[in-house]
Amino acid sequence: MPVDIKYPKVICSRCGNCCSIPIVPITRKDLARLVKTTGKPAKDIVRFCSISEMEYDAEAGLWIMFKSGKRAMVLRKRKEKCIFQAKDRVCSIYAARPQTCRTFPYSVEFEDYWDRDVSKIKRNKILDCNAVKCSEIDIDTLVDDAHKENREDKEYYRFVKQWNESEKKGGTADFLKFIGF
Ligand code: SF4
Ligand code: SF4
Repeated sequence: MPVDIKYPKVICSRCGNCCSIPIVPITRKDLARLVKTTGKPAKDIVRFCSISEMEYDAEAGLWIMFKSGKRAMVLRKRKEKCIFQAKDRVCSIYAARPQTCRTFPYSVEFEDYWDRDVSKIKRNKILDCNAVKCSEIDIDTLVDDAHKENREDKEYYRFVKQWNESEKKGGTADFLKFIGF
């Protein structure tokens, strides 16, 4: 569907900030792609960060209830960088990168819960991004990625809700098993 609203046009300068500064939450589908691509076990790809580590709405669907409190499944880091960031700052698993990495540095908003029409496309300001102005961007791919991201978020949040509402929960290894790893 063609997008006829105004939006900023920028291209990534590969400064690497978005692969080192933020904590990157991922979903079950993201994790499945990463396990398949890397051959690593899920536990070596993710960790579970506490609510005090990440600025995120306390009621958001990504918070998993453990005995130790609310935690979110996020990409592991090594020396303050995403474990998949290569020495030259590029993403070593680019084709299988999580959906949230695909849409950054944009934030796509839709008219309603069902994501029927795009209402706004803006720069994501969660960190200092050094993307530079350009004349054109692949808007269709961006919107498709935003659709997929929302769809996969909703699917994952349903699993988290089911886990949170169950009486017998367990630890992080049990949660990974619960979502299929
Ligand atoms: S998965 Fe790739 S794009 Fe995403 S934060 Fe890690 S290195 Fe960056
Ligand atoms: S912070 Fe912006 S410019 Fe830097 S790598 Fe990420 S998207 Fe590209």
